[in-house]
Amino acid sequence: MSANQMTRHQMGLSRRAFVTVAAGAAASLTAAQQGGAAAAAITLPPLPFPSDALAPVVSAQTLSFHHGKHHQGYVNTLNKLLPGSKFAGLTLEAIVRQSAGSAEHAAVFNNAAQIWNHTFYWKSLKPVAVAQTVPAPLAAAVTRCFGSLDACKQAMSDAALKQFGSGWAWLVAERGALKVVKTPNAETPLTQVGVTPLLTIDVWEHAYYLDWQNRRADYVKAVLDQALNWPFAAERFAAATA
Ligand code: MN
Repeated sequence: MSANQMTRHQMGLSRRAFVTVAAGAAASLTAAQQGGAAAAAITLPPLPFPSDALAPVVSAQTLSFHHGKHHQGYVNTLNKLLPGSKFAGLTLEAIVRQSAGSAEHAAVFNNAAQIWNHTFYWKSLKPVAVAQTVPAPLAAAVTRCFGSLDACKQAMSDAALKQFGSGWAWLVAERGALKVVKTPNAETPLTQVGVTPLLTIDVWEHAYYLDWQNRRADYVKAVLDQALNWPFAAERFAAATA
């Protein structure tokens, strides 16, 4: 092999090696970018019931906007905010907790918390055709903490109606006891240490306006009487007190 051939041979190797390395670098950069984006991407969970299952408490039309537009909108916005941020790749719960209370990250928090709150709201509801029963362990706690199921529902109604403007009414567990709390806008008890959300009612106007117009009290009463998923709350309560 001549020096010239040697050089070309080495150059050839070198070029192949360079191409391989460059391609590998490009591939891994792309994978990192795509992987980062894929890991960070938050998706909209499907409704856990048919879209007409809550009528007439919450109509299929309301659900089409509330789930398909509002909830989806929060998902879309968050997915634009995450890439390149310190929240990319975290779970939704971690994003909510780590962005809470930060003015700098208010947009991330508002959208992430609204995604979490809405997913939790859907789980808090059950088809109206399914009988509403409170499973025994939780029922005993309801009696212990509120005196009766009616009193518990009254406390939730009060919280829902006294929430000025947009927000949420919640039944939560804290140190084995049940409490009712309300939160404004996107705020959520998820961020409070030692507090386990059990049920929520969305009292943003978009939750009820198509079906009940301004009558928030009627919407809340209908949800409390016909659509709350007490078995879901009972599972959460059992896990929180285990
Ligand atoms: Mn909502």
